[in-house]
Amino acid sequence: MAVERTLTILKPDCVRKNLIGEVIRRIQEAGFKIIAMKMTRLTKDTAGGFYAVHRERPFYGELTDFMSSGACVPMILEKENAVEDFRKLIGATNPAEAAEGTIRKDFADSLGENIIHGADSVENGKIEAAYFFAESEVVANKA
Ligand code: ADP
Repeated sequence: MAVERTLTILKPDCVRKNLIGEVIRRIQEAGFKIIAMKMTRLTKDTAGGFYAVHRERPFYGELTDFMSSGACVPMILEKENAVEDFRKLIGATNPAEAAEGTIRKDFADSLGENIIHGADSVENGKIEAAYFFAESEVVANKA
């Protein structure tokens, strides 16, 4: 299986609930290597750009309000089969439908506030990673 990169964001609800450490522990225990990480705060505009694909959806305003409501922690992760394995680790978008033991099942309150983001493809992960990180901030690129 190929080594892949994926992009995750610990969303503002994860930060507010003091779950940064616990969620990173689960990510590392599942074998993902963190190759870039920062704490930042999106504006409504930058959150809107990140989720531009959802611009026409009825929840877009709610989503961009939430994503800009506090600090978040984007990370680039590396592992074999990273994209698919990470989506399994976090669980379904709606925590009510997420499998037992997944991060969203255990910690998320609602479909809108669901703790964590995971890219849905290697290509999108690359675009999303460039949204948050300069090449010089990705440690694996500086070996
Ligand atoms: P995922 O984050 O699992 O890839 P999507 O790309 O479909 O899911 O949606 C992006 C984010 O938008 C979700 O994680 C969630 O925070 C929010 N969202 C999706 N659908 C809804 C909805 N029907 N109502 C409110 N928020 C939603």
